[in-house]
Amino acid sequence: MRALAIAIVDHYRRHRRALPWRQTRDPYAIWVSEIMLQQTRVATVIPYWQRWMAKFPTVGALAAAEDDTVMEAWAGLGYYSRARNLVRGARAVVAAGGALPGDAEGLRALPGIGAYTAGAIASIAYGQRAALVDGNVARVLARVRGIADDVKATAGQRRVWAEAEALMAALPADREPGELNQGLMELGATVCTPTSPTCLTCPLAGQCVAAREGRQAELPVLPRRKRPDELPAITEVALWLERRGKVLAVRRAVGGLYGGLWELPQGEDATAAAAAVGLTLQGAAEVRGHHRQLLSHRRLELTLATGAATGRARLAVDRYDALRWVEVTRLDTLGVSSATAALLAHRPSLGKPRAPG
Ligand code: SF4
Repeated sequence: MRALAIAIVDHYRRHRRALPWRQTRDPYAIWVSEIMLQQTRVATVIPYWQRWMAKFPTVGALAAAEDDTVMEAWAGLGYYSRARNLVRGARAVVAAGGALPGDAEGLRALPGIGAYTAGAIASIAYGQRAALVDGNVARVLARVRGIADDVKATAGQRRVWAEAEALMAALPADREPGELNQGLMELGATVCTPTSPTCLTCPLAGQCVAAREGRQAELPVLPRRKRPDELPAITEVALWLERRGKVLAVRRAVGGLYGGLWELPQGEDATAAAAAVGLTLQGAAEVRGHHRQLLSHRRLELTLATGAATGRARLAVDRYDALRWVEVTRLDTLGVSSATAALLAHRPSLGKPRAPG
């Protein structure tokens, strides 16, 4: 284990990518980067992280920000519960005095911080011997140690965590815990990749069970992924309702899909979409475009339609908690989900604004 830990750290020191959050040991900055990096590629995260840190440079600045401002800054990164949890965590930190807890256990008590994030902050910012496991680390450890359990199931998770902890315990004192964790993640991201691990240049090849036994393709063991057509579909119409150069936008209530983000009123058809904002659709709606997207457990199939509707707009369903007539030209400044942004790309084909309903 000691030789393995040394090989990982030494490789990391030689090959680490110069990422902006690696220039700091500010626990808040590292926390933000780790949350953004979950389910999102490094190249995508870099500009978001830089803008975020300029806008909310401290945990106090984030805690004091309006929810809408936060969601705007996150818009486009997806998995929006991450942004909501970050704000909840920041507010909990401020309520408790303003300083982030000083160890992994304390960090885990914050909303939205799990074992992985706590391990990342404690090891990278504080230099503590806190292990972590994410998808990259699980893959590397499953291959190196020949773990044949499903790494997403309880037993497999336990094994992988035990291996990560043993590795951390074996790390010599002249090497940093943060380097070991980042080195493991870096190896998983750049060398021990899911489908084409480059074992010939891997610093762990001499100690790797999968490489020795030619089992790279079968490890790690993962649960079978559902095919897209096996996922339940959400099929909805998003209704473009325009009056005097303004379009009606609604905000999703926190707690459900896209909570805190703005969109056009949606429903199972155009009539239902109008009814969701207390309006009555006049005549038939006109289809302008479609957008399909795979979410983690569902398929989303949205249709953009224009229509005219009568009545006074109001919140009529629990799904939404705010509504606003927005200048058509300012729609892009709202924090909208990636699905709505894609749907709005069909806007240029909308043609002349319709008469008020
Ligand atoms: S030797 Fe191959 S399978 Fe083993 S850790 Fe390195 S890249 Fe992964």
